[in-house]
Amino acid sequence: MVLCRRLDLFSKAVVAIDGSKFKAVNNRDKNFTAAKVEARLAQVETSIGCYLAALDRADRAPSDIAEARTTRLREKIADLREQMQVLEARGRQVEAAPDRQVSLTDPDARSMATSGKGTGMVGYNVQAAVDAEHHLIVAHAVTNVGSDRVQLAPMGLLAQAATGSATLTVLADRGYLNGEQVLACEGTGVLPCVPKILTSGHAKRGLFTGQDFVYDAEQDHYTCPAGQHLTKGLARSDRQADGEEMDHHRNLMACRDCALKPRCTPAQTRRVKRWVHEDVLDAMQARLDRMPDAMKIRRQTVENPFGTLKAWMGATHFLTRTLAKVRTEMSLQVRAYNMKRMIQIFGVAPLMAAIRA
Ligand code: SF4
Repeated sequence: MVLCRRLDLFSKAVVAIDGSKFKAVNNRDKNFTAAKVEARLAQVETSIGCYLAALDRADRAPSDIAEARTTRLREKIADLREQMQVLEARGRQVEAAPDRQVSLTDPDARSMATSGKGTGMVGYNVQAAVDAEHHLIVAHAVTNVGSDRVQLAPMGLLAQAATGSATLTVLADRGYLNGEQVLACEGTGVLPCVPKILTSGHAKRGLFTGQDFVYDAEQDHYTCPAGQHLTKGLARSDRQADGEEMDHHRNLMACRDCALKPRCTPAQTRRVKRWVHEDVLDAMQARLDRMPDAMKIRRQTVENPFGTLKAWMGATHFLTRTLAKVRTEMSLQVRAYNMKRMIQIFGVAPLMAAIRA
């Protein structure tokens, strides 16, 4: 990164971050969650029930045939009961684990969902920040937490330190949208650009959505589709399940006689919730509006390095086990990727000359 900075490769000060799941040395059958243990216990119980019924039928068969059959069935039932005991012990282990998950081969590997519907793998979540100009991986991290929701600020700050940029635009997809993370970037010079999630229960019910209400920061009120002002009620704020404190904006009087009410709310009045730090999300939206191709740049920037790394590793998993070793392994892969990329950009001889300089 020092060489890249010296060669002024990060002058654009834009990076894209993304995460991708990489397989661990841990078969899916060797990973247990409470749900998996429960499902397997149910399977074994069903099998025992089937064998018990078969045993019952065998008892009614002629004696020489019955004897051979019942011996075999009893062995199978004993085997299944043993499996049940092992599974029950595994269930206790899962309960005792801090994140309710146990992996037998690589204890740090975790079961995580992947982008394909109904798919998942036992592995690690590799985060990468890639510069939008030369597609170098400026920062990376490996975690065993499947979600990207708390990665925006840490990855943005890592990338900022690596590029040495006082201000750095960080592009990410909706998976990274988390108000607290955007707030954590505030004042650091990291400028996140993450599109909002537009799913709304109101839209599904054919009602006006949040986008139909226009916020006026100066007046601290919303203008609704009927042109009425929805103001913040006295001490009307609450805390969401995720800890975010929300203000409620409404206009009881206006809603009472409003002709648009059937399209707005089935309740007495429509309330618009606003996170107390929503201004950081508004500022982020303004950045996105000024950069209409942001998500296209994001895709073109970050998806290629992951594709290359995965092609190098093939369909196989990491070679090492446990988080510390997997981090080292990934760091070697990233170094190799960046080295090849630099050779493509400069050619071998000029790059060698730049290294020596
Ligand atoms: S119901 Fe209330 S919030 Fe909705 S459009 Fe009418 S006045 Fe505005």
